[in-house]
Amino acid sequence: MSLSTHRRELGRGERVVPGIWRLRLPLPWPGVPHCNAYAVASGDGVVLFDCGLHEPGSLAQLERAMEQVGLHLSDVRLLVCTHAHSDHYGQAASVVEASGCELWMHPADAHMRGSLEDPDAHLARRVEVARQSGVPLAPLRAWLAGARDHGSEIAGLVEPDRALLDGVVVETDLGPWTVVETPGHAPSHVCLHQPEHRVLLSGDHLLGRVSLYFDYGWTPDPVGEFLSSLDAVDALDARLCLSGHGRSFLDVHAHVEANRALVEERLERVRAAVAEHGPITAYDIVPLLFGEALTPLTAGWRLPKTLCYLRHLEVTGAVLCSTDGETERWSAG
Ligand SMILES: [Zn+2]
Ligand SMILES: [Zn+2]
Repeated sequence: MSLSTHRRELGRGERVVPGIWRLRLPLPWPGVPHCNAYAVASGDGVVLFDCGLHEPGSLAQLERAMEQVGLHLSDVRLLVCTHAHSDHYGQAASVVEASGCELWMHPADAHMRGSLEDPDAHLARRVEVARQSGVPLAPLRAWLAGARDHGSEIAGLVEPDRALLDGVVVETDLGPWTVVETPGHAPSHVCLHQPEHRVLLSGDHLLGRVSLYFDYGWTPDPVGEFLSSLDAVDALDARLCLSGHGRSFLDVHAHVEANRALVEERLERVRAAVAEHGPITAYDIVPLLFGEALTPLTAGWRLPKTLCYLRHLEVTGAVLCSTDGETERWSAG
């Protein structure tokens, strides 16, 4: 069975509350069948929050989802991206071209730019990280072949017209949405908060089904940033959360708590693995943390996550990193 026949959901649109529509867009990723964009009424059009990944036929899926709720790409007055991952920013160039709208996004988007501006150097850097982490050559080659096939899933680079920094306001018919910087999942991540309606547009910072990911290598301590970002979002006391994947949910505080608990549990597992087996490479920690060895399919996200936990434990003094010039190994601090 080909990849294109086993995956396919279709783009679907539905009203969440009056003036807010969820646009559910298919993804070609195993285990992550779709992502959400949201359209929010604004004057004679809409503000579009996120826009889905770019691949052949993907713009038609966005158009299909919009048409189901009586909207068209030409209605988009502004595109706001919660972060620069391909499933949230991938079609930005296409949407901007089709609608003539502005794009607003956080400026810490080097994690995305590198993959577009110099894909070979970007890949080489990831290979170097993997080698330092103890990934043997054979699985590294298999992963590399997969990563090359995958491409960037981004239609093109669009320069943001405005930087989404703390306090920037996006006006809509439902009232103003205020930007809250929430780095951790990605350095460029922001949430948007609508205080009168107590709605939080959370991107990938908070998801209905708790699932963690951190971009590695762009900031000193992504896990620490993520925990601070959870505090920032918790303090907003939002009621309804519109997330980047899955259904919207109501118990925002409980989801913040569940995220904190999962991070603490993972950190403890990594700390215990290092204490028992150190000096140990990140590659050898992966099966102890996730219950199975790294595969070409999981390498792209499990290795960075493991490294992010290790960096956080290093920053807090619980583990130490040493290198022989080739491979990094971790031991108890
Ligand atoms: Zn993301
Ligand atoms: Zn996402």
